[in-house]
Amino acid sequence: MAHKLPPLKYDYNALEPYIDEETMRIHHTKHHQAYVDKLNAALEIDEGLMDLDPVELIKDLDAVPEKIRMAVRNHGGGHVNHSFLWEIMKKGTKPHGEILKAIEKRFTNIDKFKEELKNAALTRFGSGWAWLGLNNEKLEIISTLNQDSPLMEGKTPILGIDVWEHAYYLKHKSNRTAYVDDFFNVINWDKINEHYKIALR
Ligand code: MN
Repeated sequence: MAHKLPPLKYDYNALEPYIDEETMRIHHTKHHQAYVDKLNAALEIDEGLMDLDPVELIKDLDAVPEKIRMAVRNHGGGHVNHSFLWEIMKKGTKPHGEILKAIEKRFTNIDKFKEELKNAALTRFGSGWAWLGLNNEKLEIISTLNQDSPLMEGKTPILGIDVWEHAYYLKHKSNRTAYVDDFFNVINWDKINEHYKIALR
C-alpha cells in the first residue's frame, strides 16, 4: 500500500504567532506531500519494501536496493521527519516530567540545553535538522544534513527542529535565529516526555 500524508491533528493557524498559518499549510500540503509522493515513486519497484514501515526502511538503508537508496534516504527521511515534527508541535506546554529531570542532569539546566540545541540549529550549514536524541540511553544533541534522521545512525529522536528555509522563510525570512527562538514556544513537552519514555524501553 502506498504511503499517505498523515493529517495534521490541529489547525494550520494553531501555532500562531510563532509559526504562521501559511508556512504550516505549505509545509504540510506541499513539502511533506512531495516527500510522500517521491517515496512512493521510488518504492514502486518493490511491493515488499512498500509494505514496510518507513521508520524501519530508513533505519536500515543498506537493506534498500542501491538504485533507490538515495531516494529512500531523502524522501523516506523527509516523510518520517515531518510526521515526527507535526506531533511534537503544540502551543502552551512547558518542560516537565522525566525529560526535564534528564535534561537538567545532562545539560545542567533547561537554558543551557536550549543554548546547545539552538547552536546546533544555527550552525547547521544549508538544509537539515537539529535534534535531541537518545544514544545508548544518553541524551545527545545531534545535527543532520538534508532529511537524514538520527534513526539512520542507530539513535532515537526525542525532539527535532526543521531548519530548512521552507520551515520559516515566509515569516522569518533569513532570520533562522528568530525562527528557532519562536520554535521553543511550540514544543509539545507532553510528546517529548512520551518519546523519552518509549526510547528508554
Ligand atoms: Mn520541512
